[in-house]
Amino acid sequence: TLRAERVSAWFGTRKVLEDVNLEMGAGAVTALIGPSGCGKSTFLRTLNRMHEIIPGASLAGSVLLDGDDIYGGTLRVTQVRRRVGMVFQKPNPFPAMSIADNVAAGLRLTGTRATDRDGLIEDSLRRAGLWNEVRNRLRAPAGGLSGGQQQRLCIARSLTVRPEVLLMDEPCSALDPTSTRRIEETIGELRSQVTIIIVTHNMQQAQRVSQRCAFFLAAEDQPGRVVESGPTERLFGDPEDPRTADYVHGRF
Ligand code: ATP
Ligand code: MG
Repeated sequence: TLRAERVSAWFGTRKVLEDVNLEMGAGAVTALIGPSGCGKSTFLRTLNRMHEIIPGASLAGSVLLDGDDIYGGTLRVTQVRRRVGMVFQKPNPFPAMSIADNVAAGLRLTGTRATDRDGLIEDSLRRAGLWNEVRNRLRAPAGGLSGGQQQRLCIARSLTVRPEVLLMDEPCSALDPTSTRRIEETIGELRSQVTIIIVTHNMQQAQRVSQRCAFFLAAEDQPGRVVESGPTERLFGDPEDPRTADYVHGRF
């Protein structure tokens, strides 16, 4: 379980997130929704300490990973990054590197040692739903895969180190409908193994993949806040706040 407590974030003197409290439980997929610029990506980056590497960025509050504050000093940044993986909007494999080496790169990036490299590669590719498509071309460069396959490769790469949490920032927005469905299936299969937090602008997708949902909103010149959060069915079917209803029904 990952829990954000009163998380606020700044770029320079500009506050872009205010007092976000959110529990993102194991076994559930949490969708973060809201208009462009409301701070969804920023919030995601506070969950694995990527926010702090942006020049001028700062933050307040705490993020508890199974009770340990990731900013509290008991965990090193490398440990946090291993336990909380991230997949981006645009698939970013190393294109000249082989498919197998891309998956194994996940280990190197976090400094984890592989005891059974080939076994881990196969396991990660299976979990990402890509094994059957690439099992006979593991030595081929990753750049030869389709966009959707590259995105599943990036998911496999983040799974190699067995993260407890996987953050996904609009993972399908650069993909066609078929590839999008494949990623959604993969998310469904991973749900019981990894806590998944996904940012999406696609309301149908949020309803298909998530069990919990948080609606972010930034009023004019104000930092982004969570308007409401709860079971996805309730946010979409019976929202408490009229602004949530307007947003999920595409009225702004
Ligand atoms: P989108 O849906 O368009 O991806 P978002 O909800 O992910 O939007 P963020 O990217 O988190 O929003 O941005 C929140 C606010 O922080 C915006 O006003 C944005 O302009 C600002 N911002 C984001 N990144 C930076 C940065 N590196 N430096 C300064 N300001 C930034
Ligand atoms: Mg974003």
